[in-house]
Amino acid sequence: MKFSKVLLILGVLIVMIFNVNTECIKCEEIQPELHEDKTNIKKKAFLTFDDGPSPEVTLDIIKVLKKNQVKGSFFIIGGRAEEYPHIIEELVNNEMSVCIHSYSHKYEDIYKSVNAYIEDLKKCEEVIKRHVKGDVSRYVRMPGGSFVSIKSKEIKKRIKEAIVDNDFKYIDWNVPSDDTRKRYVSEEFIFGNIKKNIKGKNTAIILMHDSKYKKTSAKVLQRVIDYLREEGYEFYSMDDITVEDEMLLIKSRIINNVCNK
Ligand SMILES: [Zn+2]
Repeated sequence: MKFSKVLLILGVLIVMIFNVNTECIKCEEIQPELHEDKTNIKKKAFLTFDDGPSPEVTLDIIKVLKKNQVKGSFFIIGGRAEEYPHIIEELVNNEMSVCIHSYSHKYEDIYKSVNAYIEDLKKCEEVIKRHVKGDVSRYVRMPGGSFVSIKSKEIKKRIKEAIVDNDFKYIDWNVPSDDTRKRYVSEEFIFGNIKKNIKGKNTAIILMHDSKYKKTSAKVLQRVIDYLREEGYEFYSMDDITVEDEMLLIKSRIINNVCNK
């Protein structure tokens, strides 16, 4: 083989490797902490609770939030809300933010097609509409988050586009409490995870869960609120997100994360 040909092949290989690397780097950027905006010096914490309402836990969470004058955000399951409408009423009456998670929360159904996903989302929206006074929040949380692993990456990509096309925004989190690591987790475990994962984050979207197995999530809440206050955080809900917060969260890929890993 001629030397020039070898050079050409090498060149092509280098370009290919370089492209693969930049693609990887782009996807690595989904790590929200890499994008924390140090200019946003106000420390804001958003306590978010997925999978409620639950007769075992929601009212306990509300009690703690109310006592501390903190507004939380509840990404609810529509089917459960139909079972426990009085709990949704409690959330609304206590000015908590009630947002869409899913109607059925069954991955095998909702992630099978774009239509199935949007139909489920809208069904959940209808349930919330019966309880809230104004418009339903445009912030939704995809079951499993936008990182959710499903069979078809292409369907996931199109679902995300359809959410935005339907005038919603999907929001993940940057402070996992890992309270779903096992069915029962200790208060110490949840507190330790929040303490560890919030380090260096001025805008913290904290993920916790509201279901019958998550009694410790409700129990540890007072300790979490006390700690965050000591650390200088103020509390906000999805109803209080400002344009600046939203821009930062989009840049951090916590809102409308397009990376489709
Ligand atoms: Zn969920």
